[in-house]
Amino acid sequence: MNFKSKDNRNSNGGGQKEIRRQQTTTQQIIAENVKHLIEQLEQGKSEALTAYLSAMARFHNYSFGNILSIAHHRPDATHVAGIRTWNELGRYVKKGQKGIPILAPMIGTKRQPTEEPVEQTDKSKPMLIGFRVVYVFDVTQTEGTELPEPPTVSGDVGTYHERLVDFVQQQGVELEYNERIAPAQGVSYGGKIALLPGQTKAEEFSTLVHELGHEMLHKAERRTLTTKTVRETEAESIAFIVGRAVGLNTGSASADYISLYHGNAELLTESLAVIQQASAAILNALFAEEAEPLAQAS
Ligand SMILES: [Zn+2]
Repeated sequence: MNFKSKDNRNSNGGGQKEIRRQQTTTQQIIAENVKHLIEQLEQGKSEALTAYLSAMARFHNYSFGNILSIAHHRPDATHVAGIRTWNELGRYVKKGQKGIPILAPMIGTKRQPTEEPVEQTDKSKPMLIGFRVVYVFDVTQTEGTELPEPPTVSGDVGTYHERLVDFVQQQGVELEYNERIAPAQGVSYGGKIALLPGQTKAEEFSTLVHELGHEMLHKAERRTLTTKTVRETEAESIAFIVGRAVGLNTGSASADYISLYHGNAELLTESLAVIQQASAAILNALFAEEAEPLAQAS
């Protein structure tokens, strides 16, 4: 790994001392945030994520034919479910809304004519006996309790967003916005990062640091030496450390992301050296023009 770090300081004695002081502070910030992330990881998935996942699990994966029907009747549909599911989620179909017709399989048991009446019923296998039309509704056709949101980062990144973009470009990494990468928020291609348009500044900052982490760590030999779980743990740990260092409210978003990829505190600890190195390179670039880094958010 060889990253140019932007340093406008002159190299007289005072400047050296300042750089040293800044590096100490950066190392402290990184160490504190690593500790914080490890604590979160040890607690497991957050309540917010658990609520979100269990709500999302209520939405079916529809068959191709039904997806076509939903797309035809309501092209902007995002979350589609039947009345009963909506009610169980605390939402109700608004008056006058027309349902989207889909075909639901009818599962039944056909009993074979048999002379052993009692126990045989247990053995009759459920089977598809036909289809019927049922109606489903998109979330916009319903009202009531808000659906749980996945945990996300928030806060004000100020000028750090521009500094980060500068740093990405200094690394020779091209940056583009591309809505076709959805549902991914960002993708790292090696020499190029794509970001999903429409994220908040805080989310975009965090996504960009994550993808930059992949660019810095996973486009050379580590790509083949590491698993997806390790790569996502490393990239998201860097996003967490850098995000908190510039004052973002990261909540449980990073720990939850890492948990979803089956990462954990142990994996983070094993990767600590590269995580620290990449975080320091990014933070030094972001803080390069300041006497002292910003105090971290608590
Ligand atoms: Zn990633």
